[in-house]
Amino acid sequence: MILTYDTTLKTKKQVTFIPQEKIDWFQAICSQAFGQPAVVLDTNVARIIERFFGIEGERVKSRCKILWQAAETVAPDTQVGLWNLTLLDFGAKVCTARNPRCSECPIPERCNWYKSILNANK
Ligand code: SF4
Repeated sequence: MILTYDTTLKTKKQVTFIPQEKIDWFQAICSQAFGQPAVVLDTNVARIIERFFGIEGERVKSRCKILWQAAETVAPDTQVGLWNLTLLDFGAKVCTARNPRCSECPIPERCNWYKSILNANK
């Protein structure tokens, strides 16, 4: 596959020639290689957002507008590439699919999923 990049692109909304299922790759490349504010929404990031905000995205996360909106809202204005890598690592090592390590999470008190677990155990 050959992709051409326009380094002036700012958001995925301008990228109509990239298939939706490849948008994560494109966003990751834009943020890592070109320092653009392009967030990534893979299954790890989607899981963190769903748990933290207590929302349930659509089955195909990469097509879920609510999750994309949330991901773009919480991303910082600068160093989005670093932010993306941090979330990917966090989802792989702390907020894991099974048995998340909430005791290692820096902000469990603000997480809806964690609060619901605490309330269920009262
Ligand atoms: S508190 Fe637990 S579930 Fe919530 S974001 Fe942190 S690791 Fe994930």
